[in-house]
Amino acid sequence: MSKSNMTYISSGKAKDIYETADGNLLFEFTDRVTAFDGKKKAEYHEKGEITCWLAEYWFSILEAEGIPTHYIDCPTPTSMLVRRLDIMPVEVIRRNYAAGSLLRRYDAGEIKLPEGVKPEEGAPIPRGMIEFTTKFEAVDRPVDTKEIMFNGWMSREEIEHVTDMTSRINTILSRELNDVGIILADFKVEYGRTSDGEILLADEVGTPDGCRFWDRTEFEDGIIRSLDKDVFRKGTGDLSTVYGELFKRLQMQEKM
Ligand code: 5GP
Repeated sequence: MSKSNMTYISSGKAKDIYETADGNLLFEFTDRVTAFDGKKKAEYHEKGEITCWLAEYWFSILEAEGIPTHYIDCPTPTSMLVRRLDIMPVEVIRRNYAAGSLLRRYDAGEIKLPEGVKPEEGAPIPRGMIEFTTKFEAVDRPVDTKEIMFNGWMSREEIEHVTDMTSRINTILSRELNDVGIILADFKVEYGRTSDGEILLADEVGTPDGCRFWDRTEFEDGIIRSLDKDVFRKGTGDLSTVYGELFKRLQMQEKM
């Protein structure tokens, strides 16, 4: 798609963002990957195409299940048109299993785990948990609902609304992934407001850049095999190979 009549807005960790002539946004999914607040960087062939396909796949499923999103269309295999929103300054994390920063913060003595949750990677969180992090600060920082309301970032009703939407997204993604032998350990999403105040799911959803996916068969044998960005964060595997495996499993599911 020609970008000659678009205005370049910014480049994020993995996407370049443009504004179209009619005021929508175009996301160009690139092959870039970064971790540790940009300290580790690389590029992987076909990553942009796979993440764009996955984001489109999940947006379509979520829309069909009644979750309002900013997704419009994918004009090319690596680009997505979306509605421009006023992005909320807080991101939402849903956790079904202990992993990542949850355990790091526990080890540092900063947080308690929900009752009965063992402090080890892969420990189930029976009722799940929701956390919030800042979006527009130099480093994503966990924030509690008191600080969110105090700063006027979201009202109590909006916090309840995005918490409910994130739980519904979790139910839908977990169900679909279970069908292809994958556990959804956790994920992060963003929301934004339209000019008339409606809250829509924004950015991307269900990609291995923003979720932890574990192979279910191996998990049942006591092994955590990641099909997500953790292989890059931890240097435990080839990102193209695991993103490709995830893509193939869901693509086959779509054709059935
Ligand atoms: P953690 O807080 O354990 O590092 O990450 C929790 C979840 O949020 C993981 O699924 C991780 O992939 C996702 N996540 C962490 N940082 C980002 C980010 O900057 N963008 C997106 N989309 N997801 C993130």
